[in-house]
Amino acid sequence: MSDDGIRCKKCSYDFAKSLYEEKDIITCPYCKKKGSEQDFEILNEVTSGDGYAITLSDFEYFLKNKSSYHKRDFFKKDVKFFSIVIKGELNSFKDKKGKDIPMEEVHAYIQNDIVLQRKLYNLYYVLAHY
Ligand SMILES: [Zn+2]
Repeated sequence: MSDDGIRCKKCSYDFAKSLYEEKDIITCPYCKKKGSEQDFEILNEVTSGDGYAITLSDFEYFLKNKSSYHKRDFFKKDVKFFSIVIKGELNSFKDKKGKDIPMEEVHAYIQNDIVLQRKLYNLYYVLAHY
C-alpha cells in the first residue's frame, strides 16, 4: 500500500492514492470531479505531510464546541469505524461491538487516515465560527 496522496485540482481536497490504485478513473471524494491522473496532482509524502494534523487538544476542543449535528454527521458518514455518543458536553465513543473506545484512540485513528484527517481539519477550521 502506498502512502501517496492525490490532490484534486478543482477543490484542493487531498485523499489517499491507495483508494484508487488499479482504477483508471479517479473520482474526488469531496467535489465528485472525475478524471485521469493528469487531472489530479499526485502528492508525495513531503507535500501531503502533516499539514492537516489536528492535535489531541484540538480534537477535545472540537468535541466540546462543535454542534452535535456536525459531529454525528462526521462519525456516521466518514469515520464509520467508531460511533459517537453525545450526552450534552460529554462525548464518548464506541466501536462496532459497543465497546467503549478512549478518545485518544479515535483521535489516532483519524490522524492516520489522510482523508479523515483532512475532513476533520476542514470541520475544525471551516466551521470555526459555528
Ligand atoms: Zn475535488
